[in-house]
Amino acid sequence: MGSIALIYGEQIHTMVPQLIAARDPFHSLRARDTVVIKPNLVVSRKEWQGVNTDPQVVEALVQALQARGVTRIVIGDGSGMGYSATKAFEVCGYRDMARRYGLQLVDLERDRFVRKPVPIEGPFASLEIARTVLECDFLINVPVMKAHCTTSITCSLKNLKGVMPRAMKTAFHGVDLSRAIAQLASVLVPDLILVDGIQGDLSSETGRTPVAMNRLLMGTRPVEMDSVVADMLGYPPRAIRHIAYSADAGLGTCDLQSIKIDPLNQPVQNVRLRPPPHYSQRFPCHLDLDGACCTCTGNLLFALERLKAQGVLSASQHFLAGPQACVPSGRRTMTIAVGQCAVERTDADICIAQCPPSAGTIYRIVASAARQD
Ligand code: SF4
Repeated sequence: MGSIALIYGEQIHTMVPQLIAARDPFHSLRARDTVVIKPNLVVSRKEWQGVNTDPQVVEALVQALQARGVTRIVIGDGSGMGYSATKAFEVCGYRDMARRYGLQLVDLERDRFVRKPVPIEGPFASLEIARTVLECDFLINVPVMKAHCTTSITCSLKNLKGVMPRAMKTAFHGVDLSRAIAQLASVLVPDLILVDGIQGDLSSETGRTPVAMNRLLMGTRPVEMDSVVADMLGYPPRAIRHIAYSADAGLGTCDLQSIKIDPLNQPVQNVRLRPPPHYSQRFPCHLDLDGACCTCTGNLLFALERLKAQGVLSASQHFLAGPQACVPSGRRTMTIAVGQCAVERTDADICIAQCPPSAGTIYRIVASAARQD
């Protein structure tokens, strides 16, 4: 299945079976096989739409697998910093689904891990991968197509970060993240990718600004899949560094002319998805977020949107987040350290020492300081 199947619509429970009928991705599965479905469960809060994989997409996969006689089905993921997959299973409806279909849920952060050597150049000589994922017979990657504050987009390549222990996920943000993602793609290749493009997000990987995209994509090649998704989200694939690194390492092609797309239907409305300006251009304040985790960055950006709407942001504020944060020399601005690791590394004027602080906490503290200023 070298090409990518694409279907538009909103009716997940008819769209997934159409993709499966068109591609027959389960033809080699045996009834005794163990199948792991890896959704994207970044957050474990009520507002998960556009961030986490919609459980209806996974449910339609489960129904197709069980119709083939497969009974050992595991849903596994590890959430973003400050969140919990165990809680996300509950909040998003996966636990209820597991009861109804007899599925096993695994919070991969609590799994045991196996160290695997990395065959391509980059910051890591080896990576730790969850045993549940390594030992299964068939791995299905079900990412969401959406923006990402550091890598511009996230889809199937970056979604696999959730199979590693928390310390290693955090370590990815202290190195060249894009190279590290390409390294992960060289160690772990899924058997099937089903992209949840029903609702995505054009501004943030941690959400609160969901956008209806009304599409699902199915394929087997991560570099090709993410190249097509990058193009749909308004980026040339080579502009996404982890896609370019993966292609240059021989893990696939990002040449759109070489990637075949098979649309099963046409969209009702031909909407062009376009990314908003990068966050560094959206706010009047200074931002130094190098190396910060996605959840810290996402929460800060959401708080900044609210602060901007209130008119309390200005060029005299300098926000710092992440383990590489440092107070600017000369220091003519008010410095605000967001998150425990930035607080520990700096002597900022305002310290918000949580890991990660919520958007509400950041908003309240900064708005209150701005009012007193
Ligand atoms: S405080 Fe530091 S470690 Fe914690 S989420 Fe933020 S950037 Fe990551």
